[in-house]
Parts: sequence; structure tokens; C-alpha cells
Amino acid sequence: MKSLLFHTDATDLQVKAAQRALMTAGAANITRMSSAGRTLMLVEDSAGLIDIQEFGKMPGVEVAMEASSKNGHVATAENSPIYDSGIEGLTIIAGPCGIETEEQVSAIFARMASEGIRYVRAGAYKPRTSPHDYQGPGEGGLEMASEIARDYGLQLVSEVVDPRDVEFAVQHVAMIQIGTRSMQNFALLKEAGRSGMPVLLKRGMSATVEEWIGAAEHALTAGAETVIFCERGIRTFETSTRNTLDLLGAMALKERTRLRVIADPSHAAGRRSLVAPGALAAIAAGLDGVIVEVHHDPASARSDAAQALPLDDFSVLMEKIRNIREALRI
Ligand code: PEP
Ligand code: MN
Repeated sequence: MKSLLFHTDATDLQVKAAQRALMTAGAANITRMSSAGRTLMLVEDSAGLIDIQEFGKMPGVEVAMEASSKNGHVATAENSPIYDSGIEGLTIIAGPCGIETEEQVSAIFARMASEGIRYVRAGAYKPRTSPHDYQGPGEGGLEMASEIARDYGLQLVSEVVDPRDVEFAVQHVAMIQIGTRSMQNFALLKEAGRSGMPVLLKRGMSATVEEWIGAAEHALTAGAETVIFCERGIRTFETSTRNTLDLLGAMALKERTRLRVIADPSHAAGRRSLVAPGALAAIAAGLDGVIVEVHHDPASARSDAAQALPLDDFSVLMEKIRNIREALRI
């Protein structure tokens, strides 16, 4: 199934012209629906004759999507500028991998605030490969980080791993992060969705784009205010980076939704030298932002130290992102 969503001010003639062009191109069946003054056209194309992106350029059409009729929320949900952070039109989220101490959180959030970042990250419940590694501070740490975020006028994004922690977390965060290891934890997706909060949904490290969309549909169906998709690298045969940043998979997802799709170059790269290149490539490709791990003293970071950007490097990255957008006029 493919779809065309028309602008609210699209004329009847424009809608009919698009419909005629689709029929001529070989569409098997077209269903038109209207809601809130907008027309949505669902196009059946079992023979695969239609390049729907071409029809996206027709007058009156706002967006053309490869829409699975099962994933209606993902296909039709609106983007919203309230999730801008750092740079207008982008969602740039940054902060430490894990919450450690008050000094650490304050030092990092202070710099993020001065960089214009609105959404900061910091994990309280860390999913670690080994039970002997730093597990994060849990509830007390989340409370502490949210207070510091509030002092700086920042919104906190933090991962929840256990559905039983959602109720507590939503009192302290502005966005719930679902990690790569939890992307298909449907009980967690539903609980997070039921809270009505926005959900930052990392792609499962072995998940297809279709499975990722299905996970978002779970959270949206349960009531999530929005989903921000995050490509954080997938498992491949390649071992020279921690994961393989699948930028084109993320761009393919953007052809199917207006919801934001951002990249996490930190967990893809696994080491700081490749974080900025990954972030810049993502922005240049047209993704809607990045989430980056930063630390005021990377050598002392208790989790993901090798990929933590020092604060000054983050400031340089912000400047480069601005330059890239200006150069490409995106
Ligand atoms: C994280 O953001 O610190 C994290 C654990 O990410 P992921 O779920 O992508 O591995
Ligand atoms: Mn991390």
C-alpha cells in the first residue's frame, strides 16, 4: 500500500488530477479518505508499477509514502516543532550516557543549555551487557538529574527498561527513551505509550525498518504523544565500528512517515573520533537530528567512555552542523 497526503488547502481539482495520474500509471485501486479537512489517498499497487515519490511532487500533495495500511498512526501522524532542540528544525539531544554525580550532571547540562539544547539525555537504568558493569543510579539519580535539568530550563530524556518503572519515570522525564535491546518489548512499548509521553524509539540492533515501524505503531496506538525514531547502528559483519550506522535505512523510513527520524552516531561509532563524522553525515543526508553522548571528563565516564565527546568537541560539532545546513540549504 502506498499513500498520498494532501495539503489542507489542496483543491478538488488537484486531488482528482493526482487520482487520474495514479490510475493511468497502473494503480489497482484507490481509496480516498478525509479527516480534519485533509485528503488521504491509499493506493493499491500490487504490481509495483508506481513510484509514489514522483507523485509527491504533484500540486496539492504534501507527502507521499510507502504506507502499510496496518501502520496508520506512523503513516499519518504529524511532526511538531515543539520537539526542536539545539537548532531550529532539528532535534539535537545530548548528554552523558549515564547519570553519575551531581557535579557531572550539572557540568554537562550547563554547557548544553548554553549551546541552546532543549532536550538532554542521561540514563538512570543502564542496560549493560555485564551485570558487573555500572548499572546506573536508578530512581534517586533520575530525580536528581531531572531537578538539575529543570534548573537549567532543560527537558530530560531517559531510558526506561522495565515497564514497572514507567510510572515513576514519567514524573521526571519529558521523553521516554526505549533502547535498542527493548525495541520489541511490547509490554514496555504499551506502558510507555499509555503514559501519553513522547517516545524516543531506538532501532533494534537487528530490526528491519518494517519491525521498527511496527514498534512505533505499538507506542502510538497505546497513546504516545509522538515517536521520534532513532537509528543507532545495526549489527553487521563489520567490526571496525561498534555498529553500522544505516543512514539509508533511516532515510527510507523518512519516506514513510512525517515523524522525526534522528541518528545516534555515538552508539554506532563506539569511539569518539567517528561521532562527529556520523552526526554530520546524518544531517547532510536529511535526517531530523542527532542524539550524542557527551561528558565533561570522558576518561572518568562510568559507561561508554570511549564514545563520549568532550564538551568543547560538542560545541565544534554544533557549529559544523549549522554550517552544513547553511551550505546545503536544508
Ligand atoms: C544509550 O543510549 O545509552 C543506550 C544504551 O543506547 P542503545 O539502546 O542504542 O544501545
Ligand atoms: Mn550509552
